[in-house]
Amino acid sequence: MTDDATERTLILGGGLSGVAAAYWLSRGGRQVLLVDQEDEVGGLAKSRPYHSQHGEFTYDIGPHRFHSSDRRVHEVTMEVLGENKVRRERCSRILLYDKFFDYPLKLGKALRQLPKPVMARALMDYGIQSVKNLFVKGSDDNFESWVVRRFGRKLFEIFFGVYTEKTWGVPCDQISSDWASQRISQSSLWDTVKKSLFKPKNTVRSLVSEFHYPRTGGIGEISRSFAREAEKLGAVIHRGCTVKAVVHGDDGVNTVRVVHADGREEEIATHDVLSTIPVTTLVRLLDPAPPAEVMEHVRAMRHRSMVFVYLILDRPQLTHDHWIYVPEKTLTVHRLSEFKNFSEECAPPSKTLICAEITCDKGDEIWNKSDEELREIAVHDVQAMGLIRPEEVLETFTHREIFAYPLYTLGYREHLDSVLGHIDGIARLDTTGRQGLFKYNNMDHSIAMGLGAADTILGRTADHRKVATGDEYFG
Ligand SMILES: Cc1cc2nc3c(=O)[nH]c(=O)nc-3n(C[C@H](O)[C@H](O)[C@H](O)COP(=O)(O)OP(=O)(O)OC[C@H]3O[C@@H](n4cnc5c(N)ncnc54)[C@H](O)[C@@H]3O)c2cc1C
Repeated sequence: MTDDATERTLILGGGLSGVAAAYWLSRGGRQVLLVDQEDEVGGLAKSRPYHSQHGEFTYDIGPHRFHSSDRRVHEVTMEVLGENKVRRERCSRILLYDKFFDYPLKLGKALRQLPKPVMARALMDYGIQSVKNLFVKGSDDNFESWVVRRFGRKLFEIFFGVYTEKTWGVPCDQISSDWASQRISQSSLWDTVKKSLFKPKNTVRSLVSEFHYPRTGGIGEISRSFAREAEKLGAVIHRGCTVKAVVHGDDGVNTVRVVHADGREEEIATHDVLSTIPVTTLVRLLDPAPPAEVMEHVRAMRHRSMVFVYLILDRPQLTHDHWIYVPEKTLTVHRLSEFKNFSEECAPPSKTLICAEITCDKGDEIWNKSDEELREIAVHDVQAMGLIRPEEVLETFTHREIFAYPLYTLGYREHLDSVLGHIDGIARLDTTGRQGLFKYNNMDHSIAMGLGAADTILGRTADHRKVATGDEYFG
């Protein structure tokens, strides 16, 4: 394939949406150049090798389970992974009132172990709210009112309120109801809470019971496989290549300025650009810069950041869980995961690796803590959960992620629409993926968006901005 800039699509960002688009475009016969600032593709769903004193292993940036109800996404992903995959039964728990419950909740255990007054209150609130809804037309203008109107106050408090405020760092009445409507399907709540309370033998339909995981290489192997297959078809991928400016004129996007890992600057000419980097970053890199009012909207958009504290433990396994949700207010950690339960190679031999996730804002008190201070917090919390003794912790390391979650604060939609409107005014520039559309995607949604955006470029009918992202609430 000849390299002709007038025929080429330049993809910014090599997370799942970027590499899926690169693969799909290459399969469609298009020339592709993809650039990513990291030395490895995968973005949020990336894996890295770690050389510990106790042996080498692969770790993921937070725990990831891949599943998809979209047939095309499933088939394409399984195809690129080839034989390198295993199927796992999902196993999660949630810590409520100092006890671990299977997640999704199981009736018998919940009935036996949740404090009776709490259960009674939850049912009563649910009943009162249902009757109230018949007579009063309430509003769904924020996360809290959306959930309370559907499930009553106590269920909101137990399952959603505390965890949400802890994770987002924002009061629930300051969070857009889009967050609830995208992530909590009515059937999902019915399944996870009410059905589990009322119908003992019912299985939970909307929460998948199995997921796929690469046999070797960690979750990042999915992105690597997409990238590898795209490269086989002629795509070029520049790793360690940071986008510095996206230059456009009246006729649309023309060139993209980048800096390579060795400091070399390059101006890349291209026919069209598909961006999957954070949309807030993209807008700041536009040359010429957008009008002041668009920049105001960009400044109002916020991301929630995250620190991941990894602990190597001197024991072969801690639990059978992939992860445990920790809504408990007195603990800082909001989720704990164990990588060995995804794949044996995700921990040193005969030891186990756990990860404590702590959400924060970039530059806040948590973000600025030293690795040693973060270790103390993580060890304290996991000990308080009754799971470890501090002397079992052999080694720790941390990872910080700035753009972990798009934050759906009230009014975010207006800000996003303004920003997307500006981008849409630039011919041959498109933006997609979790970061590119500021959307709380799972991996499969990001892949779907990448494939859909590629379809659009290939002239097929597609609307990657309408990929449904509804899924389970926690996760
Ligand atoms: C903690 C955590 C756990 C998760 N667990 C699950 C799960 O269990 N199941 C699931 O399905 N999903 C999960 N997800 C969601 C999943 O990780 C994302 O949906 C998906 O990885 C997003 O892919 P993306 O390509 O849209 O964005 P990203 O992965 O963020 O990719 C964006 C890419 O752009 C690059 N970039 C940014 N700026 C520049 C620049 N200036 N120049 C060049 N490159 C740049 C970045 O390096 C990155 O590679 C989880 C997410 C998090 C944060």
